[in-house]
Amino acid sequence: MRRPFPAPGMEQVDPFLLLDEMGPADYGPGEAVGAPDHPHRGFETVTYMLEGVFEHADSAGHRGRIAAGDVQWMTAGDGVIHSEMPSREIQRDGGRVHGFQLWVNLPARDKRMRPRYQELSSDAIPKASSPDGLARVVGIAGSAMGVSAAIDTRIPILFHDWTVLPGGNARLELPDGFRAFAYVFSGSVRLGPDRHEVRDGEMAMLSPGRFLEINKSSTDKDTARFLVLGAVPLREPMVRYGPFVMNTRQEIEEAFSDYQAGRMGMIPAV
Ligand code: FE
Repeated sequence: MRRPFPAPGMEQVDPFLLLDEMGPADYGPGEAVGAPDHPHRGFETVTYMLEGVFEHADSAGHRGRIAAGDVQWMTAGDGVIHSEMPSREIQRDGGRVHGFQLWVNLPARDKRMRPRYQELSSDAIPKASSPDGLARVVGIAGSAMGVSAAIDTRIPILFHDWTVLPGGNARLELPDGFRAFAYVFSGSVRLGPDRHEVRDGEMAMLSPGRFLEINKSSTDKDTARFLVLGAVPLREPMVRYGPFVMNTRQEIEEAFSDYQAGRMGMIPAV
């Protein structure tokens, strides 16, 4: 697993609280691990799978199965207890798992909202391509190359999965006031007007601006894969403790006592 942030010196990239790259991992029979029942309050968890299958169940009664290319956008809001596990088949027989989990903070006004669950299968997620086909984008949130995403977010968010082949280039328009970053998870790509090279495992913070220039040299041998994430920062006080992210310390204490008293519910048995 790779965790671009939080990391020392980078507690968050407001409003993004965490980015995990799960795998790619090849599990043998009985080896695959997930996250059994645990609570969340005050933010959203987003799971995007590239390979393998995860199963979700939560105390608000939502259940889902997310396979390659699917996305699950869970707004914990007031509080849910959920489990996120590799599929029964992968747990039993082993298999390959690769995906991302992103935590998105909620604005103070939405932290106690009713939990919400959005699940989109790969074929319902908009995709676009440059005219020469060398730059392709999957629009999980926000718009790209004229295509708008289907996920409804509480604040405007851009979440793209880019694939750029040698010789490919694209120009991504960023909405006003957005702060964005790129995380490369395979190959390398050149970003910005000075074509700064960003390599596998690196994260690049983008300076404020209207456009992101994306380039890949025609002499490269690899294919670049990277995420671009952006939003207008919330700039609100944040107190974070494990699975709870609130605005004040008192709200964190309240979250703990609500969780311990069972006020975040239970996952219904099937
Ligand atoms: Fe979770």
